[in-house]
Amino acid sequence: MNIYTIDTGFFKLDGGAMFGVVPKSMWNKLNPADSNNMCNWAMRCLLVESGDRLVLIDNGIGDKQDAKFFSYYYLNGDQTLDKSLKSHGFSRDDITDVFLTHLHFDHCGGSVRWNSKKDGFELCFPNATYWSNENHWKWATQPNAREKASFLKENILPIQESGHLQFLKPGEDLFEGFRVHLVNGHTESMMLPILNYKNNKVVFCADLIPSAAHVPLPYVMAYDTRPLLTLEEKAPFLKMAVDENYTLFFEHDPLNECGILEYTDRGIKLKATFKLEEI
Ligand SMILES: [Zn+2]
Repeated sequence: MNIYTIDTGFFKLDGGAMFGVVPKSMWNKLNPADSNNMCNWAMRCLLVESGDRLVLIDNGIGDKQDAKFFSYYYLNGDQTLDKSLKSHGFSRDDITDVFLTHLHFDHCGGSVRWNSKKDGFELCFPNATYWSNENHWKWATQPNAREKASFLKENILPIQESGHLQFLKPGEDLFEGFRVHLVNGHTESMMLPILNYKNNKVVFCADLIPSAAHVPLPYVMAYDTRPLLTLEEKAPFLKMAVDENYTLFFEHDPLNECGILEYTDRGIKLKATFKLEEI
């Protein structure tokens, strides 16, 4: 198996919303806010090459929405999904599978784009099977009032209409060496890939631990729909990550791609950060 970081650029979100109950006096040292209280975050995806499969995990925010929508998120950075794929010798047509951890717009917006006439949508990865799960799909397509602004119909429904959508069952792996860990605190049935890579396990942490700053247990985003459940899911996950020496891959960390953890007398903390290619 080969794995590659795919950068799709940065966006900004309110620091308070990203750090939940943690006071700004603490989180501002970890990811300093601008004058609007916004912090910069990556939308970092992962490409997994295994046998004849080329799997893209999440795909960033995309380009479908209008200028008003994007004005809230201050997109920045030079990287794009296409440039990043190309730097590893791939193009969109090569992707066999698009694995969507969940359907919030900053994770799945790059799934679908306007067609050339701008009167409908087409898949950004025309040869790919798109993976979600039934519980999350139902949750996203009949959204609650709180998550409604994150589940955008135009990011989601065209995938199903294209006939390329498939669901993984709870407990099912995508394939050998690509396990799926389900969590329900951030949103219903978010899927975290756990990859066997170089005698190591690499976990794509999605929004369970979006950045290295979110490793300590109480650092839970205000966006989470069930924050107490996140705590219940995060505690054993952190323990498992130390005991099995997992490499954590951070989707939203503006600087750090990967990290490993350790036990300390103040709980489980970050031990080191590094680039994926250093594994
Ligand atoms: Zn999310």
